[in-house]
Amino acid sequence: MEIKRRQLHIGGIVQGVGFRPHVYALAAGLQLTGFVGNDATGVFIEIQGEPDNLDRFLQQLRTAPPPLASIESVRWDTIEALSLDSSFVILDSQASSSGHTPISPDIATCDDCLREMLDPADRRYRYPFINCTNCGPRFSIIRRTPYDRHFTTMADFRMCPACQTEYDSPSDRRFHAQPIACPACGPQLTWMEGTAHHQDEAAIQAALHALARGGIVAMKGIGGFHLAVDATNHDAVLRLRERKRRQGKPFAVMARDLETVRHFALLSEEEADLLTSPQRPIVLLSMHADESVRLLSPAIAPGTDRIGMMLPCSGLHTLLMQHSAPLVMTSGNLSSEPILWRNEDALERLSGIADAFLLHNRDIHVPCDDSVVRIAERRQSPIRRSRGYAPLSIRLQHSGPSVLAVGAELKSTFCLTQENHAYLSQHLGDMENLETLTAFEGALAHFEAVFRTRPEIIACDAHPGYLSSSWARRYSQREGVPLVEVQHHHSHLCSTMAEHGLDGSSPVLGIVFDGTGYGMDGAIWGGEILKATYTAFERILHLGYTPMPGGDASIRNPYRMALAHLWSAGVPWTPDLPCVDAATATEISVLQRQLGSNLLCTPTSSIGRLFDAAASLLGLRQRVDYEAQTAIELEAISEDINHAESYPVRIEGGQIDPRPVIRAIVDDLRAGAREATIAGRFQRTIVQMIVSGAEEARRLTGIGTLALSGGVMQNMSVATLASQQLRELGFHVLQHQLVPANDGGIALGQATIALARLGSESL
Ligand code: ZN
Ligand code: ZN
Ligand code: FE
Repeated sequence: MEIKRRQLHIGGIVQGVGFRPHVYALAAGLQLTGFVGNDATGVFIEIQGEPDNLDRFLQQLRTAPPPLASIESVRWDTIEALSLDSSFVILDSQASSSGHTPISPDIATCDDCLREMLDPADRRYRYPFINCTNCGPRFSIIRRTPYDRHFTTMADFRMCPACQTEYDSPSDRRFHAQPIACPACGPQLTWMEGTAHHQDEAAIQAALHALARGGIVAMKGIGGFHLAVDATNHDAVLRLRERKRRQGKPFAVMARDLETVRHFALLSEEEADLLTSPQRPIVLLSMHADESVRLLSPAIAPGTDRIGMMLPCSGLHTLLMQHSAPLVMTSGNLSSEPILWRNEDALERLSGIADAFLLHNRDIHVPCDDSVVRIAERRQSPIRRSRGYAPLSIRLQHSGPSVLAVGAELKSTFCLTQENHAYLSQHLGDMENLETLTAFEGALAHFEAVFRTRPEIIACDAHPGYLSSSWARRYSQREGVPLVEVQHHHSHLCSTMAEHGLDGSSPVLGIVFDGTGYGMDGAIWGGEILKATYTAFERILHLGYTPMPGGDASIRNPYRMALAHLWSAGVPWTPDLPCVDAATATEISVLQRQLGSNLLCTPTSSIGRLFDAAASLLGLRQRVDYEAQTAIELEAISEDINHAESYPVRIEGGQIDPRPVIRAIVDDLRAGAREATIAGRFQRTIVQMIVSGAEEARRLTGIGTLALSGGVMQNMSVATLASQQLRELGFHVLQHQLVPANDGGIALGQATIALARLGSESL
């Protein structure tokens, strides 16, 4: 039989996932000769043998790649066969200067590794840094590409002979597992509590003792530090809240296994799969209403009926959780600052919060917070897309120059594109301070290094005051790179379109309900129904304007928004209303003058502020500690909205009128309606605004494809009922599945818009 030789190039997530040994085994099984290696754009292969076997090789590679690999492209050519080729070899990585190399996110310890870690006969028994080609840290330890040990933070650890043998052996699960380590040669744990220091097993035992006593332990995980306390110890949880100066924002809880999670929360099949997935995110679950929950401190998620839970995602977490109560695991940071990831910084900055430190000496090159995901209508709905997901790419329908989109302000992420790939960064925090800006710059430098690209276009929010936007303007000037400023809600809509693979050429309707976005008329938008392509948008409908007195103060204090809504609805401020009671006499008279003269009042169409007003009218909340708190708490106390009736929704002159809603809430309050009833009716009204607004927009435009975006769409009751009703009305409904509906996903839309606007011009 004739011998043929082929040259192949495989693109996708094919590095750091056991791809080369997989190819080796496949080639050996088919008696093929040649070689395989990594380059900066993927994996290259030359392969020689009988044509049938060459075909079989290609087919098997495509249909059964290694578990963590994701093949995006396969190119091959027939080349001249070599007469002296007698074996198949794996080549070392080689660097080239450009091209597209997706890198793998950090992956939770796999079952094989966990089994070894818990086997007393294994040489890695109870070794927390165990990993293999199918699991372990990636994104957070890679300094640059190609993915090779000397380009990771494992470079300083010299492999022992036993590890080296595994690393070199193509048949081993750890063949070229770059973070390979064992107790003899790898990273080590250190416990520090005052002057007491312990190593390794003693460090784990010390941590367990401290946690059991109610201590607050700062521990280094995969992507940064966590602050941990026993979740069943109420005093300890309160102490953590006090020291961290974090009042109401819910904490996530780590539990040993699914069984423990089921103890506290309702768990669907999809939620269980997500909890145990290699991404291992925090999953937002419905808490049981019965007293089993009381085992957990009520200070974990005050005012909500949801709880964010996760399973151990590293060897260290597994070892700790075996002998620990569920633990609160919150990001190791100071309030509103990014997560800490360096030992020195954590020791210094968390010293006022943590009683002790559980450290290790495997450096984290870039921090990466835990992800938060929820299941809605059996689909994944990301709330924070970070560890386990970043920097997976989202495929765009346009290719062009590299775009950097810098996001908005809250829940900041950025997006860097390369050809038709959009790489969304890990969660960076709220871009309100220098620390977050520094984290942003660090993460960007990392993306530029691993993806070997420099932005040729920069995109930002049109908001004049965002730190991210001024950074983008400065960057544009300094680097001479064109700047595209994009409207906030247009970006939200386009991020939904982009993740659904739309090319943006035909217009789509978008219902974008959120808190704050700078409008084209200088008003604060947030209740928008738009018609858009990637290059342009038209505002079809919006929530009628209400004056927002004094900007930020009205965001922090919902009663101010309630008073403003009452004012514009013509309802007198009588003391029976909780929002009137919440304001001081001076404040009332200042607000009266302000609203009366329209001084320092910005008009707003924000649905988020309407939620604030409703929560305040109900007496539920007069001050907020974190974004979307009123919406979360309103949802928690509400009756089932499927059985609630809506307040009147009036659409006239391109506006959805909020005034009848406000008047109806006040009427209900005075008639003595229950809190749960009013909360239910109010949310049902938001659903009705979406549905009636969609129908009106379809009537006006003839468009039946509709995207739902903006932070309000994270209200599960509202989004679920609205999308069901819209589908029944024949709409093709697009909802977020890959990026958050909140501002954490907005950079994707910004990048898409910039690419469509400038990318096409420059072609
Ligand atoms: Zn493994
Ligand atoms: Zn070793
Ligand atoms: Fe937004």
